[in-house]
Amino acid sequence: MMMLVEPVPAFRDNYIWVIGNNQYAAAVDPGDAGALQEHLEERKLELVAILCTHHHPDHVGGNLALSKKHDCPVYGPAREQIPAMTSPVSEGDVVRIEEIGASFVVMDIPGHTSGHIAYLGEGALFCGDTLFGCGCGRVFEGTMEEMHASLSRLAALPEETRVYAAHEYTLLNLRFALEVEPENRILAARREKEERIAGLGMPTLPSTIGLEKGTNPFLRCEDPGVIRMAEMHCGKTTSGPAEVFSVLRRWRNEF
Ligand SMILES: [Zn+2]
Repeated sequence: MMMLVEPVPAFRDNYIWVIGNNQYAAAVDPGDAGALQEHLEERKLELVAILCTHHHPDHVGGNLALSKKHDCPVYGPAREQIPAMTSPVSEGDVVRIEEIGASFVVMDIPGHTSGHIAYLGEGALFCGDTLFGCGCGRVFEGTMEEMHASLSRLAALPEETRVYAAHEYTLLNLRFALEVEPENRILAARREKEERIAGLGMPTLPSTIGLEKGTNPFLRCEDPGVIRMAEMHCGKTTSGPAEVFSVLRRWRNEF
């Protein structure tokens, strides 16, 4: 059976990604139990696993209520406090969901939070608040160096890997990206496409690692044009990609 992935919108701009088939479902980052429960009932799906990427309430807020209602394992980062967690996981662990016939390898990708993880498998990457469409998460708990290293690991995945980020931030991120790279034609084409999609009320996700590498400034810290713009912005030369990343991230915070 083919693995389907569907977004359940929650709060203002979160997506709870629902992985499954026509009978069973696993939910990634169910911040809102009600929104997910409604989807499960509508589709007559049985929840068989919860996968959490990090501890922020908009990602784990539904865990308690959902795990009371459904007898299913709750996976989450071993280094963080996750409500109702039954199965702490970290780098290299494999999450196998038999009912769906899908397996995911866990990657430690600290930066946004210090224990943030991603789930990679079946050609898909569930990366929470680390990599977004044309952007990346804020660096709250980790260091800029850690976040840069985490994003570099994601950038090294196969280009066709589908990127399921946890927020719909693509259009705003595109505006910033075009500020950094006004001459990037792939970026200009992406904005046109994403504006059309968003205009129809559809999600701009998933994207792909290949598309992000061509358009996401935070994955392009070795591009001469990006380096030049970062240096112009901070008014000094930079010592390498991690510093370029740090300049871009601070710049984005004020954007
Ligand atoms: Zn977060």
